[in-house]
Amino acid sequence: MIPYGRQDIQPGDVAAVLDVLQSDFLTQGPVVPRFERAVADKVGTRHALAMNSATSALHVACLALGLGKDDWLWTSPITFVASANCGLYCGAKVDFVDIDPRTYNLCPRALEAKLEQAEREGRLPKVLVAVHLCGQPCDMQAIHELGQRYGFRIIEDASHAIGGQYQGEYIGNGRYSDITVFSFHPVKIITTAEGGMALTNDAQLASQMDLLRSHGITRDPEVMTRAPDGPWYYQQVALGFNYRLTELQAALGLSQLERLDAYVARRHALAERYDTLFGELPVTTPWQAPEGYSGRHLYVVRLQLDRLTVSHRQVFEALREQGIGANLHYIPVPSQPYYQPMGFQAGDFPEAERYYAEAISLPLYPTMTEAQQDEVISALTQAVRP
Ligand SMILES: *Cc1c(COP(=O)(O)O)cnc(C)c1O
Repeated sequence: MIPYGRQDIQPGDVAAVLDVLQSDFLTQGPVVPRFERAVADKVGTRHALAMNSATSALHVACLALGLGKDDWLWTSPITFVASANCGLYCGAKVDFVDIDPRTYNLCPRALEAKLEQAEREGRLPKVLVAVHLCGQPCDMQAIHELGQRYGFRIIEDASHAIGGQYQGEYIGNGRYSDITVFSFHPVKIITTAEGGMALTNDAQLASQMDLLRSHGITRDPEVMTRAPDGPWYYQQVALGFNYRLTELQAALGLSQLERLDAYVARRHALAERYDTLFGELPVTTPWQAPEGYSGRHLYVVRLQLDRLTVSHRQVFEALREQGIGANLHYIPVPSQPYYQPMGFQAGDFPEAERYYAEAISLPLYPTMTEAQQDEVISALTQAVRP
């Protein structure tokens, strides 16, 4: 099976992890801060907080922004469930903004229309999670302007997008958002096995997230309610979690980070090769906005169903039968059974539904060969023209 994505582990990665394994610290040592500093410097932001997943990072990001009961979090319906679940963890309510039919990202015009209505109804969101689907950045400038006008805070879910750029700068620099989150799951662009990171330019948000990722415990006398009893002393000043990344994982991440630009460049080369090889096949290749440089986490084609005699599902099954690990990113979150009792109905997000009926993620990862890519093309050609 040619998988839709997979990690690349090199001898240098193994050596870096082994070094840490034989060192004094397996967790809470010097490597995690080194990894945080390296990512922050790479993307051009002040503070970076490593965590055990992007899901954890999204959770503490929402808490740090003050999201709570009776607040609203809005995000895209076409995302992994974690982009929305983080709102529910905080007791907030979740709603969605339909996607742009060209980029498949949350549509700023749909957002503006929904905000106008929400303002009249007194239910404006507190937090918007902008998801850079497939690594292609959202129209962050437009979203930021709306944030200024309507007073919501912005989290970029850049789980797909580390190494990508927007307006010529690395995603994660925080120019148009409060917090950016990266994922280091093995299918993503660089990996720490499990892992994630929250980045911000705001020192207060950074210290709040730092507190929350480690039990709400502080050793900083400045943050304590009274002078320390002694050198052993710490205080719990918030209800936090254990969301820490280990030293082993940070070592893997640091080593992988050296190859970030090369990985993204390789993904671009393969994606551009896909673009040209489909020829006359009845599929729509991914449109790329000129102001962005995608992380190219996923290569999604949409079937032109009106030109096909086979169904979306049949194409999928034919690909799988031929050993192609095609996938679908994503099932619209509001259609998930857990979200259904919140009142979402078919027809609420028509562009997202159309996308779901047509989309297929084809295999794309840096160690993929051109021969494997040719196999994918030939399997797809057969699948759409049986
Ligand atoms: C993978 C992913 C997440 C969750 O990442 P984890 O590190 O696995 O918790 C969140 N949002 C999006 C868009 C993702 O693709």
